Amino acid sequence: MHKATILDRDIAGKTALVRVDFNVPLTDGTIDDDTRIEAALPGINSLIEQNCKVILCAHLGRPDGQVNPKFSLRPCADRLAELLEKPVTFVDDCIGPKVAEAVEAAVPGDVILLENTRFYPQEDTKDESLVIEFGEKLAAPADFYVNDAFGACHRNHGSTFGVTKFLSPCVAGPLVELEIDQLTKVFNAPPEGFVVVLGGAKVKDKIGVIRSLLPKCEKMLIGGAMSWAFFKARGMEIGASLCDDESEQLARKLDQELAGKLDKLVFPVDVHMRNTANPDERAQVPADGILPGWDALDIGPETAKQYADIVRAAKTVFWNGPMGKFEDKPFDEGTLAVARAMGECPGFNVVGGGDSVSAVNQMGVADAIDHISTGGGASLEFLEDGKLSAVEALDDK
Ligand code: ADP
Ligand code: MG
Repeated sequence: MHKATILDRDIAGKTALVRVDFNVPLTDGTIDDDTRIEAALPGINSLIEQNCKVILCAHLGRPDGQVNPKFSLRPCADRLAELLEKPVTFVDDCIGPKVAEAVEAAVPGDVILLENTRFYPQEDTKDESLVIEFGEKLAAPADFYVNDAFGACHRNHGSTFGVTKFLSPCVAGPLVELEIDQLTKVFNAPPEGFVVVLGGAKVKDKIGVIRSLLPKCEKMLIGGAMSWAFFKARGMEIGASLCDDESEQLARKLDQELAGKLDKLVFPVDVHMRNTANPDERAQVPADGILPGWDALDIGPETAKQYADIVRAAKTVFWNGPMGKFEDKPFDEGTLAVARAMGECPGFNVVGGGDSVSAVNQMGVADAIDHISTGGGASLEFLEDGKLSAVEALDDK
């Protein structure tokens, strides 16, 4: 990576402000999946080994700039203490005197977790001067800055961007370094044998990556409700299938823009649909056979086979987004077929995005995947132009 990391600077004994990604799924204060906390351990341990005081900051959910106990990071402090096998001090604010006191009282090697940065509206606002002002307050108790929150690196927030104006050095943590290195291999992959699989609900989330990767890849396989937007834009019947107006408009625009290059873009040839009037009634039909009142919830078996064959033969493959409404069985079959094929693909394979990652875990093929990104949105934005704004704000090597 072209940016400085913890190992490139003399930081021993200093106080670190570390932005981590602890945006974990919570149910009633219990952490459902601690993958992101585990992913932050190498960076935290490396700073402990260098006798740094470690101040961690992060966001959780969307509390919209207000203190809301539902979005407290306290459960993450408890989980982190278990994983580190050492105490973690939790401070119920992220700026101000409480933080200063806790840092003052800490000794080298101690770990402090600050409360959700998004309890302040200045963390995440379009007004850059407020973001920078907030960054100055966050930076106050620390000597230097580490960004190891890959999943938040596509955002110029107080804790990912504002702080970099006030601390030196500003370096990348090992998770950010690993993510950037692996995704750079995807971004720079030779076109021959480079396959991109995109699913999920909305065209808007994927349009940037379609534009950037279509010229670079050999095939782009489209699945999920996103496909219905293209079907509808082309005048096909999609019945009661999920499709928002914006997705349909964007699909129509892309069709016009990409005229002549569309042969690389592959769409489902069949679908698995459900009768909304009688949910027990399901049918697998050709793509042009969706009936009014029916809801296409997955790619069909023929498409699943086609996509799996292409994925298995790929030299490089990047996958983001499920092929259907996979939380609703049996409409998980298309997504699971792609996950299985990813596991069997001997090429360089990368998965990004929460829902596709859980499919890979459900199939038990995670070990066969070269890289599973901790950031859905961040990995997509990186692949748009090979850069992420919060990473660009760090010191060069
Ligand atoms: P990821 O989290 O992997 O980036 P997205 O968030 O873009 O993926 O999309 C995931 C959501 O899209 C899931 O909740 C899934 O149920 C939904 N989805 C995908 N295809 C369909 C479909 N055909 N009908 C209804 N929902 C769908
Ligand atoms: Mg999602």
